[in-house]
Amino acid sequence: MHRTHTCGELRVSNIGTQVTLSGWVQRRTDFGGLTFIDLRDRYGITQLSFNEEFNKELNERARSLGREFVIKVHGEVIERSSKNDKIPTGHIEIQVSDFEILNAALTPPFTIEDDTDGGEEIRLKYRYLDLRRNPIKEKLVLRSKLSKAVRDYLNDADFIEVETPVLIKSTPEGARDFVVPSRMNEGQYYALPQSPQTFKQLLMVSGLDKYYQIVKCFRDEDFRADRQPEFTQIDCEMSFVERDDIINTFEGMIRSVFKDVKNIDLGDIPVIPYDEAMIRFGSDKPDMRFGMELVDLDEVAKGNGFGVFDNAESIVAINVTGGNKYTRKELDAFTDWVKRPQIGALGLIYCRVNDDGSFKSSVDKFFDQDKLKLWAEKSDSKPGDLIFVLSGKAEKVRKQMNELRLHVGELQGLRPKDKFNACWVVDFPLVEYDEGSDRWHAMHHPFTSPIPADRDKMESDPGSVKANAYDMAINGMEVGGGSIRIHDKELQKRMFDLLGFTEEEAQEQFGFLLNAFEYGAPPHGGIAFGLDRLAALLTGTDSIRDVIAFPKNNMGRDIMIDAPAPLNADQKKELGII
Ligand code: ASP
Repeated sequence: MHRTHTCGELRVSNIGTQVTLSGWVQRRTDFGGLTFIDLRDRYGITQLSFNEEFNKELNERARSLGREFVIKVHGEVIERSSKNDKIPTGHIEIQVSDFEILNAALTPPFTIEDDTDGGEEIRLKYRYLDLRRNPIKEKLVLRSKLSKAVRDYLNDADFIEVETPVLIKSTPEGARDFVVPSRMNEGQYYALPQSPQTFKQLLMVSGLDKYYQIVKCFRDEDFRADRQPEFTQIDCEMSFVERDDIINTFEGMIRSVFKDVKNIDLGDIPVIPYDEAMIRFGSDKPDMRFGMELVDLDEVAKGNGFGVFDNAESIVAINVTGGNKYTRKELDAFTDWVKRPQIGALGLIYCRVNDDGSFKSSVDKFFDQDKLKLWAEKSDSKPGDLIFVLSGKAEKVRKQMNELRLHVGELQGLRPKDKFNACWVVDFPLVEYDEGSDRWHAMHHPFTSPIPADRDKMESDPGSVKANAYDMAINGMEVGGGSIRIHDKELQKRMFDLLGFTEEEAQEQFGFLLNAFEYGAPPHGGIAFGLDRLAALLTGTDSIRDVIAFPKNNMGRDIMIDAPAPLNADQKKELGII
């Protein structure tokens, strides 16, 4: 028998028991005649004690154990003389009467402790060692609980889990496909699914009614922070539903997941139309943990001879509560921050609201106290506050202000990681115009239906058509999105037409779906949540890499197995890709 207990299990109540434990040597403390070892497994750490007086030979052998050796020990649970209140097993130790080395280990390339000395690259290369560390391991444990909570909820609600294929044809989620050459069909390629979108819709045509799958999706995108080429979605679809049915069902799921995994009550989840979200936050995934909403200053700031404002399409402000504390130097740093190419503002105007109610702005030349008072009224600013103002093209300036709002919110401590605020954003535009390709693009994907009232405008004014689509955002991160689908062949054709597909192209790419729509497709809709993102949120990490067992680095490489890698000439020949 390898063990009677785990290394996280023994307590004072076990004192006097003979036990066998197996695990890794995390640390050895050598006092000559006395040796202590922290023995670690997935469940915790138990202190082993070896004593020359008790057994000289055993103590000598213990002194030769290296870090990360795998050992099996036998001994008696005894009370510890110097107790450690930080770990659950801290009041006991094992007086070892015998042990066996199950496997020796090389000295690990970094310390396997909560605070390690290893940099990210080396830890990714030896990911199996990194996963021995609590902070990483605990994230995988939480991820597993999260998947279980999702399955529990959906199974209880009568969803069935169906696996869809991985070797398929292109799915239109807007990224590039990863492709796999077919040996048996030379010169032809499978695509890996960007999502199971078309299959889940076909399952609705099949009458499965409620589908889900926790599924890998693959998108060949340029690497941006926090993207992985393969990631996991909680993919769902339902028949005979409208938007509110989906919202209710999946709000329920997210609530139940937060409750099960973290015992957190998510509170009310507001439903915000896209247009409103853009006006209030400049973002379609607003961080609702704090206010600092965008204020329109057009009315009170234009027409005062300040060219920058007078020539701008839009002037937008935020009020920073208590922001008058910032020094001149700090304000300059904010200006530099918004001028970085990632944000791209030309400058930043500020107005301090002094404790005596007077104002001091960076544009005092153009705005006297009465004028600045109007800014303050609009922004609901109080003495001690600070108003930041940006101006420029309407859409751009709102986006820039969104970034600044998040940045200031972070600095002001308004975005704590243990606070969670969710919202739904609905009524997205159906399509957006892409100047580069001179075409309309589906904002969600081409199977998303327009809201019924807007259908007549699909040809005459596509930009004004709203989609029957919804996203959920938590703490400013998009965690899920979906739509009520088009289930009628004619409407689907009009959509393809709008997106610039010829009839042949549509037939070639999605003929199977269009054909299926002719055999009794029910009204249906669905949603997909990013499992990695939810896990990152719930574990309080900024990177989804931390919640993936074997992630790729930011160049899309797995540096542990060294992939991607070239093929040898024979393989290439066999695949017909020379
Ligand atoms: N397939 C969509 C996506 O991956 C989700 C959906 O519409 O259900 O974003």
